[in-house]
Amino acid sequence: MPLAATPPAEQSSAMSAAGVPAPAPAAELPVPATTSNATTGPAFDPKEVTVIFVLGGPGAGKGTQCARLVQDYGFVHLSAGDLLRAEQARPGSQFGAMIKEYITEGRIVPMEVTIKLLENAMRAAMSSEAGQAKEAGAAGGNKGIPARRFLVDGFPRQMDQAVKFDETVCPSSLVLFLVCPEPILLERLLERGKTSGRDDDNAASISKRFQTFINTSMPVVDYYRKQGKVVDIDSAKSIEDVYADIKSAIEPVLGA
Ligand code: UDP
Ligand code: MG
Repeated sequence: MPLAATPPAEQSSAMSAAGVPAPAPAAELPVPATTSNATTGPAFDPKEVTVIFVLGGPGAGKGTQCARLVQDYGFVHLSAGDLLRAEQARPGSQFGAMIKEYITEGRIVPMEVTIKLLENAMRAAMSSEAGQAKEAGAAGGNKGIPARRFLVDGFPRQMDQAVKFDETVCPSSLVLFLVCPEPILLERLLERGKTSGRDDDNAASISKRFQTFINTSMPVVDYYRKQGKVVDIDSAKSIEDVYADIKSAIEPVLGA
């Protein structure tokens, strides 16, 4: 595949020469484009939103654990992979074919697309009264929740994304890193592949995803580890046991 050798060409339709999203592609995304950029600082104030990144290899259990956290703590769950798949499936998306190719190859979609999808989803959640009511309900009717809580799942997984998101969207408060041996990940993904319908839950894509994880995503974990933000979670354990460890890790951050 030419993807490895030619990312700039792949990205050219989505970017201006200056490397910022061009107006037309941004307007193509499902929620209206926003105006944040590196010169105006992050789009969201960390005092008003709490962002927790959930990272880990493919099949580590990010989505499963995030769903539990949504139930118990009223997080808004944003899976970068799910947002990309939704954009891929959106009729008329100019990014659909590009996203499908990157995902099948286990490569990282150019960050402009993913970051804009995340930012737009955050903004939609912030302004959605329905979302606020749901969050209050999920948190046991407590309407006094001070900050909107976001779980950003499966992102950032490349250094450029990490730097750009922190700079233009919102720095995270915590990084949960789900650690699991590769043979267990493989077994889980092949099992999921029987029913997931995903383009990348097959043996060929899985091995490429593992390579991308080691070469491209681990440096992001190391970067946040140096900032003291990473908590390692052994995710080879049962769903219940992993969740208990995650709760212990996040409660101090939430002040719960
Ligand atoms: N992906 C991407 N950028 C991101 C997150 C995901 O390009 O920031 C793509 C990438 O090709 C990845 C795929 O989406 O392999 C599936 O990601 P997802 O998080 O859904 O997979 P998981 O790790 O949960 O199995
Ligand atoms: Mg996932």
